[in-house]
Amino acid sequence: MSDAISSAVHLAAVAENLVSGSIEVIDLTTPLHAGTPILELPELMGQTARFELEEISRFDDRGPAWYWNNFRTGEHTGTHFDAPNHWVTGKDLDDVSQVPAQRLVGSAVVIDRTAEVEADPAYLLDIADLHAWEDEYGRLPEGAWLLYRTGWSRYADDPAAFANLGENGPRTPGLTPAAARYLAEESRILGMGVETVGTDAGSAMGFEPPFPCHSFLLGAGKYGLTQLRGLDRLPITGAMLIAAPLPIVNGSGSPCRVLALVAPDAR
Ligand code: MN
Repeated sequence: MSDAISSAVHLAAVAENLVSGSIEVIDLTTPLHAGTPILELPELMGQTARFELEEISRFDDRGPAWYWNNFRTGEHTGTHFDAPNHWVTGKDLDDVSQVPAQRLVGSAVVIDRTAEVEADPAYLLDIADLHAWEDEYGRLPEGAWLLYRTGWSRYADDPAAFANLGENGPRTPGLTPAAARYLAEESRILGMGVETVGTDAGSAMGFEPPFPCHSFLLGAGKYGLTQLRGLDRLPITGAMLIAAPLPIVNGSGSPCRVLALVAPDAR
């Protein structure tokens, strides 16, 4: 019973700290509009839709006192949540509506490779990077989101720079198959969040396996979060993350509002 009382006291303290501003809420979400960058696959493949608004009425004959819209979007458009059933390795696991709510809130830790990505946009996080992080901060915590800070969101409003197409395809950061496998099999993280258009590197179609972050993490029942911004405002450890996808029945993912709770003195 005392544990329950103490949790209630902690939660009340969080609420008080939100009101006073001692806990800051940082929106990590890319705004959704027709120009929000999307993943573009080779032409023969199916493509995700851009976000589109369709006005129903705006204080006019169609609705004199109200404004509202329909919208069309891909599940994987803008900042979005990858559910396990998105990938063939996780096809029998949870769809986005089945992901337990308890797993939509968790701690967040940051691995910062901004300098490396500045030097090489195709930089791949490897298992040595994860070991170095764990040597400094301890094991990747159970139930945490691992957020990969690359600085890539600085290009988020410039689709050409964001996609960074080179002669051999997009040059954007990601992780190696070995790192993806380590996160899936050796860590107890909830999932991986990135600043790029998808959780895998731009060149990951040619990896073995292709798209290893999708393949290993979703196959292990973990999740992905994409097109995050503001990761530079988070501490390496100590933030809380709320990732709230729409509960689309049978959906493979959903545009997602991602909020971080940060105690400014933790930065
Ligand atoms: Mn996706």
